[in-house]
Amino acid sequence: MIYLDNNATTKASSTVVAAVTHYLENCYANASANTAGYTGADVPRRTAAGQLAHLLNAEEPDCFLFTSGATESNNWIFSALNGSRLRKVCISAIEHPSVSEPAERLGRNGCELSVIPVNRDGIVCIETLAELLSPDTQLVSVMAANNETGVVQPIEEIAQLVRARCPTALFHTDATQAIGRIPIDLQGSWAEVDLMSFSAHKFHGPKGIGGIYCRPGTALLPWLVGGGQEAGLRSGTTNTPGLAGLAAAVGQIDVALYDEVRDRRDYFESQLRGVLSVQLHAANALRLPNTSCFSIAGTSGEEIADQLAARGVIVGTGSACSSGSLSPPKTLLAMGVNYTLAAGTIRVSLSRTTSIEELDRLVALLVEIVAVRGGSPQLPGG
Ligand code: PMP
Repeated sequence: MIYLDNNATTKASSTVVAAVTHYLENCYANASANTAGYTGADVPRRTAAGQLAHLLNAEEPDCFLFTSGATESNNWIFSALNGSRLRKVCISAIEHPSVSEPAERLGRNGCELSVIPVNRDGIVCIETLAELLSPDTQLVSVMAANNETGVVQPIEEIAQLVRARCPTALFHTDATQAIGRIPIDLQGSWAEVDLMSFSAHKFHGPKGIGGIYCRPGTALLPWLVGGGQEAGLRSGTTNTPGLAGLAAAVGQIDVALYDEVRDRRDYFESQLRGVLSVQLHAANALRLPNTSCFSIAGTSGEEIADQLAARGVIVGTGSACSSGSLSPPKTLLAMGVNYTLAAGTIRVSLSRTTSIEELDRLVALLVEIVAVRGGSPQLPGG
């Protein structure tokens, strides 16, 4: 199989698998039991928090709270930040449903919800955000990088604007697609980010583990009560194998590797454009180095993806993580891409190990599939 859907999930590295297996097989004691210090069951949580603090330049390992992943993290932030007292919230138009749906629920329950539009390149309109902010805004959420198009948002500028206009508001960014792919500095350019969510399986860690960076002094209300784990905020037996895998995955991150990934992505796009009439989305924006999102005129993304899958190549179609949904990617619609073109979208997302040969094979298959179904014509000389 050639796997090119790494924005949906990534393959756990063998180091990660070994770390998870070790904790499942050998160190399976409960991290909350008073024997944890003897059995080593308390090690993965500390190691994961320490590794994350190092990678992201956070103030201290205690800034991290662990959850089952970004969906839970985002729901927690919108449900238990100030409880029912959230009255004024702003999100971007292109947030993942795990942000937009909790926000919309707040809106239905009397909270004033503003949605910040994006421009044709998929970048949040800063001027509109500035107009929407008011001194009583309590929470602003803009994702760091979009899962469909890969567009990287100007988080530093947005967070600084929020801080300047509404000093008491909290700024949250969903960094699920960004961690491991672009540099993040929580005490440098991202010093005004208060809350950040992430999932380990997007950077070759295990599924079902992720968390929240919570800047010191930012209070989250308890989310799950019971055994008092995660500083009494999120009860439930600690996912020790998951944390061991998360720590191993963070330890293997080398953002510099993504310079080469970007070269391979750019190579793919130039090869593709040489042989097929494609519209590349957000081509003028700063994008994640691994993401290519495009439409082939006259074709349906789902159909092309199915045909590729039948030939052993896995790609995404728009928002591939919301499985079962056949509606066109919401990000592209928010960017003003027309419905038919948006419905034809294919998302190719590389991993750090994707090879040129795999990308060449994809281009060849796309040409073959499009030619058979009489879709987009080959460009002259292509
Ligand atoms: N936010 C973004 C931007 C995502 O891409 C995803 C996963 N597709 C999530 C949140 C949810 O992550 P998870 O499924 O791991 O909870």
